[in-house]
This record gives sequence, structure tokens and C-alpha cells, in this order.
Amino acid sequence: MAEISNIRSVKGMHDLLPASSRVFSRIEAEMRRVFSQYGFSEIRTPVVEETRLFSRGIGEETDIVAKEMYTFLDRDGTSLSLRPENTASAVRAYIEHGMAVSDPVARWYYAGPMFRHERAQKGRYRQFHQIGAEIFGISDAAADAELMHMLMDFAAAVGVSGGRLGINSLGCAACRPAYREALKSFAVGVRERLCEDCGRRIETNPLRVLDCKKEPCRAATENAPASADHLCADCAAHFARLRSALDAFGDTYEVDRRMVRGLDYYNRTTFELSAAAPAEEGGDGAGLGAQNAIAGGGRYDGLVEILGGRPTPAVGFAVGLERLAMLSPWAADPLPPAVRVFVMAVGEGTLEPAAALASGLRRRGVSVEFDGSDKGFKAKFKRADKSGAVVAAIVGEDEARRGVCAVKSMTAAMLPGGEKQAEVPVADAAAYIETVLRHEA
Ligand code: AMP
Repeated sequence: MAEISNIRSVKGMHDLLPASSRVFSRIEAEMRRVFSQYGFSEIRTPVVEETRLFSRGIGEETDIVAKEMYTFLDRDGTSLSLRPENTASAVRAYIEHGMAVSDPVARWYYAGPMFRHERAQKGRYRQFHQIGAEIFGISDAAADAELMHMLMDFAAAVGVSGGRLGINSLGCAACRPAYREALKSFAVGVRERLCEDCGRRIETNPLRVLDCKKEPCRAATENAPASADHLCADCAAHFARLRSALDAFGDTYEVDRRMVRGLDYYNRTTFELSAAAPAEEGGDGAGLGAQNAIAGGGRYDGLVEILGGRPTPAVGFAVGLERLAMLSPWAADPLPPAVRVFVMAVGEGTLEPAAALASGLRRRGVSVEFDGSDKGFKAKFKRADKSGAVVAAIVGEDEARRGVCAVKSMTAAMLPGGEKQAEVPVADAAAYIETVLRHEA
């Protein structure tokens, strides 16, 4: 058999060891706290969906669908994909569970891994995590503004403030065709300056030309017509209402006239939250290099219908968890000790009283590392030191015979009797240690 060695994680997919995992968990705890204040409830959808959900929903011509999906055949030949984002899945679930009939207004949020076969670099991964929120059933732009306000609140709650909120309007089915044509004729005029992909996009999806990240394409389209100048009366009113609602919530924003976002399903409102510029550019943000988008979102009033449901207005956003974690001051916090107490059993007949003590402590909500191995005192004390425990409880053979255990303070603090070490009956030890810890805290 070939030797198995040097197996590493897949390129662009990373392990989260305890220090980073803890930052993620703290951010997710803030997500639950803040989002529930806005009346949102959590959903969890499968990581794998039928490919056509994404190709129909996100759009065949988008980079995500055309180049970045992890797609494979199921055993019955159905094409499946790892989800590259979660909005299409949320819409599928909304339709599948008949929400339009039972409760058309739904405020949902989610957190989980997404998969895109992108060029891996700092801040851009192939498995990454998004936290997102969606509001179904409300077309008024006040919902868009409230959602953005929730995003800003959440970012501030994890210590990321000072970001830049950019907004735009892409219009709707009524006004987009004329804008599309205007953009198309513009793009045809600068065709020779555009990349090969953009040359193709002129015909298939000219809006995508504005989304190209390549510098020559960006320069060539600098003076391209803006969607915000081609809105019908309803869309213009919606955009005006969005701005006054953002003012009402007290959020600062900028209109970014070329923001189209990388997914086809958006109409009217689009928005993006980007990191504050790095210090050398006059901002106070840590900076994420080229990947400075923290979150993106917008309205997708047509998507529920495209995917087979009743026409239902909707708006949502997704935040990159890795990027929030990089910017959050929590990333620098040292990992706190995993336990408060270290219980060791050393020698014959000590396992039972020591195990009972550990269980008693855990029942009282105290975290315990238990060592019942055949190692001696010295090795166990070394491990107890490393564990960061405040108190060690030792049951040796002599203690076990006498029904007691030794309790030792592992910090500079003294035990209640003014000593570093005390002997207490095993039966009373859990209550005694709990008191010691309360004094410590
Ligand atoms: P999108 O779904 O493309 O609108 O992205 C929303 C947010 O997800 C972005 O602003 C990023 O913060 C994050 N994101 C998107 N793609 C990646 C990736 N490949 N790696 C890390 N974060 C990502």
C-alpha cells in the first residue's frame, strides 16, 4: 500500500484551531444577540444543493456560477454543488415550506461555510464562512435601511466600526433594459480596451462589465452610464426613500454609482460595507489588502418567483466571517484557560473518588480537566500548571484510604484558611472548591 504522508488541508480551506475558533464563536454569539434584537430567527440549510438552484438563482454568467462552484454528480446522476452562498438556499427553503402562504414576512439569518473555487489569497478562501440575513415580504426601502443598520450595529458589536457603507440602485425589470442597452453601447465603444471575459459579457450580461476587477476594464468603464441615472419613477422613489430611511436610522453612507455586485438576482438596492482604509491611506482600519469588502447585499424582488414561488419582495446581506475576525480586536485576545480545576487520581483505589469529585464539580457548572492516567504526581502537576487551572484537587492512595482529597491553589492566591493547600473530605470537596473559586473570581 502506498504510504500516506504529508496530507494537508485542501488549498484555500483552513483549520480553525481553538484561538481562531473562539473569535468566530464570539462573533456568532454577537450575531445571535444583535439579530434577535431586530426580530430575526436562525435557519440552517444544507451545504449541498442541486446545481440548478444556483445556476438559475445566481445567474449562469456570474463568476460564481461560471467558474467557482464545486460541482459533482450524485449517484443518480443529479448535478449537485456545494453552496457558494446562502441566499438561493434560503429562498428555496422559503418556497419549499410554503412561507408565502403561512407567514409571508420572514426575517431569517444564518451562519455557515460557503465554497468558491477562487484564487486563494489573504482574505479570500475556497471554504469561507458567511453570516447573512434576509427579509422576505417587504418591498418598502425602510426594510433595506433597517437591514443595513443592523449590519452596522453588528459590525460595531464585534469591534469593527468606521467601515464605509456604499449604496446604489440597479433599477427593476421596467427600467433595467434601457439602462442595459445604454451600457451595452458604451461598452461596445470601448471594447478593445476590455478583457476577453468582458468582451463576451457585453452580449451576455453587460452589467457584469462594471464588476470586473481588472484595472484596464475599470479604467475603460470609468465614465460608463450609471444605473442610478436611468431609474424609472418607482425605482427613483424607492432609492430616495432608502436614503431618507438611512438618515432616519442615523447611518452615514455614500452613493457608489458603479456598484453592481457579483450576483444576477439583485434589483433596486445594492450595498456594500468595506473596511476603513489602512492607516497609510489616511484611515484607521487594519486593512484587508485587496479584499476590503466586509459585507454585501441588496434587494432581490424577483428571485422567489424565478425559483418557482409567488412573487415576494426580499432583501438581504452576507458578511464574510473571516474578514470580520481579521478586523476584530478580539483576534489579539489571548486564549483563556480551558478549565478552572484540575483533578488528578494517583495510584490504586483513587479513580473512583476522584471521578466522583470531577463529576460533582461539573454538575455545579465548574470546568474540570481530569487526569486518571498512570502517570505520577510530577507529570500530573506539570500538566495541571499548563492547563491554567486555578485549583488542583489531588486524590492519592493515602487520601483515598482516609476519604479526603488535597486541594491546592495553583495561583498566588491563598485558600480561605490562609494556606496554599488544604485537606477536605472528598464528599465536601466540590462545595469547598466552588467557594474557593467564587473568592478567586
Ligand atoms: P458575496 O456573497 O460575494 O456578496 O460576498 C459577501 C461577503 O462574503 C464579502 O463581502 C466577503 O466578506 C465574503 N466573501 C466572499 N467571498 C469570499 C472568499 N472567497 N473568501 C472569504 N470571504 C469571502
